[in-house]
Amino acid sequence: SKAMGRRQAHFFDEEMAARAVARNAMQADLRVALEQDGLSIQFQPIIDLNSGEIIAAEALARWTHPVHGPIPPSDFIPVAENFGLINALGAWVLKNACHEAARWPTKTRVAVNLSPVQFRATNLLGEIDLILAESGLAPSRLELEITESVFLEAADATLACLFQLKERGIHIALDDFGTGYSSLSYLRSFPFDRVKIDRSFINDLNASSEAFAIVRSIVDMARTLGMNTTAEGVETAQQAEILRTTGCTEVQGYWYGRPCSPQTLGTLLSHSERS
Ligand code: C2E
Ligand code: CA
Ligand code: CA
Ligand code: CA
Repeated sequence: SKAMGRRQAHFFDEEMAARAVARNAMQADLRVALEQDGLSIQFQPIIDLNSGEIIAAEALARWTHPVHGPIPPSDFIPVAENFGLINALGAWVLKNACHEAARWPTKTRVAVNLSPVQFRATNLLGEIDLILAESGLAPSRLELEITESVFLEAADATLACLFQLKERGIHIALDDFGTGYSSLSYLRSFPFDRVKIDRSFINDLNASSEAFAIVRSIVDMARTLGMNTTAEGVETAQQAEILRTTGCTEVQGYWYGRPCSPQTLGTLLSHSERS
């Protein structure tokens, strides 16, 4: 009925208003967290399938809200992007990740996620240069992870920026590969160092599945193009075994290690180095 429609419309308005209020409160609290050192980083190990050693670690932002507790990055990263906070947040993560990584064994890389929004900032390159110089981390030990959505806007400017990063020796990885509409075409436009195969494919992996055929094709294609591959979201021994047969070189996931504190990663690295 019309009346019910009106009531429903009213209900949705209220729900939307409540969400807007919540987002606004979140951005205000996130701003405070950024100013008062309320964020932290966890590192998830990335393992070389051949040697079994930790070859890299991915920095993942963490925020524990003083009242609401831990907020997942899938909630606060979009808020940071929409409220003009992602440049500060991204720089904070990069700086802290590079300073940690400078103390790791020199063969160990650090991977840091870059939001597409950060490419719109005019001084992204200058900021990265400064952080590398201050931390003393060799550019070749830094890998920046981007998703193909970075190309949706200002593709030419983004490509120019990516080439400048590559010139410095910084590695560029294409994250969440296979989830977008036109992933393949982006592999032609830029010489990525690495392709990270999205965990949805790994999740469905078994010896005879379509997912297996897809993963193997991605690995083959990447190799043909001179790119390395990392499988994301490896949760079981069986998935790890199957991945070996695809020629994939690096793996990351709960089976090998959950994201952990910088201290814990330091301990893991010192053991990994000795063995
Ligand atoms: P991502 O870059 O794809 O990062 C991997 C996500 O998968 C992480 O979630 C990690 O905890 C999770 N993961 C790792 N292994 C497994 C597994 O075996 N099984 C399952 N189910 N999940 C696994 P997290 O930390 O919640 O981060 C979610 C997303 O938030 C990231 O996805 C990334 O897109 C974004 N993010 C996190 N930190 C940052 C940051 O500093 N900057 C930017 N721009 N984005 C970030
Ligand atoms: Ca990532
Ligand atoms: Ca990913
Ligand atoms: Ca993602």
